[in-house]
Amino acid sequence: MNNTRFKYPDTAAYSFMIDALAKRGVTIDDICKISLNLSQEFFPEVTMKQVQAAAINVLHKREVMNNAMVGLELDRLATQGLLSEPLESIIMNDAGVFGVDEGLALSIANIYGTIGVTNYGFIDRNKTGIIKKLDQEKNGESNTFIDDIVGAIASAITAKIAHSMS
Ligand code: MG
Repeated sequence: MNNTRFKYPDTAAYSFMIDALAKRGVTIDDICKISLNLSQEFFPEVTMKQVQAAAINVLHKREVMNNAMVGLELDRLATQGLLSEPLESIIMNDAGVFGVDEGLALSIANIYGTIGVTNYGFIDRNKTGIIKKLDQEKNGESNTFIDDIVGAIASAITAKIAHSMS
């Protein structure tokens, strides 16, 4: 039963997410750069400062933190061999039919409506910026969730900016 007196740990959740990204070499600015490039295709006047402000807002949303925490933690557990089979192998091999990574990412991309979802599709196909690096890294670490999460956060930021411009 859900404990109605439990206070959601916003600050701890935020730190968890930012630290987990940092441990994989991903900074907020890396995510902002993806969003800036995409935003400027539609709105050339958008600045990095504007993107950074939108990013801080998006990254504090509970839906974003919850989905990001679950995905990043599953990558960590898989990398350390701590999941039970067959889930361990499915995640370590980034099985094409798994789809839970995209599911978590879509929950993030979706928070500002369909613009976020179409951006996510674009980023996922083109693997821009830090996502390309994550995708190509073959160092025994699971990247199954992190690339989708980073892409989804960049998409949500881009969608937030698009809404503020029109
Ligand atoms: Mg994936």
